[in-house]
Amino acid sequence: ETVTELLDRLSVVVPDYPQPGISFKDLTPVFADPTGLRRIVDEIVAPFAGDFDVVAGLEARGFVLAAAGAYATGTGMVTVRKKGKLPREVHSEDYSLEYGTATLELHRDDVAPGTRVLILDDVLATGGTVGSAVRLFERAGCTVAGIGVVLELAGLGGRERLAGYRVHALQKV
Ligand code: IMP
Repeated sequence: ETVTELLDRLSVVVPDYPQPGISFKDLTPVFADPTGLRRIVDEIVAPFAGDFDVVAGLEARGFVLAAAGAYATGTGMVTVRKKGKLPREVHSEDYSLEYGTATLELHRDDVAPGTRVLILDDVLATGGTVGSAVRLFERAGCTVAGIGVVLELAGLGGRERLAGYRVHALQKV
């Protein structure tokens, strides 16, 4: 089974969620499946093997991928969180997303300058979310080694917005 076949078999498309007209790709059944979880985690980190020191996950579904990816590769995991969740000094970056605006935060001392960071999330749409995470790590003096997502919603400008970075998607829809 190819990873595309696996994703087609296990992921669920939810029409009109969270708003009428939006077709939401739900990957939670992929995470819940033993073959599915292992497969997507292994394949999302593979292209970047040896090029990163730490794996960053974007709240909340990115945490699942990043924690497993860090464990599998013997690296550490850094949490990029929504505004107000991190207790110590943070860098903050505002961004616009498909359904509104938001702010992501990173603890200033969770990553040392010069660290090579692999950023993971479940879905790349407009690229607003990942773009904000990229800015957070660059403000912290880190290098973005790459960006890995399970699904890329092509045609929403995400890849263009991230021009110059290595972006790897397991599937483009
Ligand atoms: P972007 O900022 O427009 O690229 O949107 C990506 C963010 O929104 C990611 O954190 C995703 O988790 C979430 N997202 C957008 N569309 C979907 C979807 O269809 N399924 C699951 N998550 C989505």
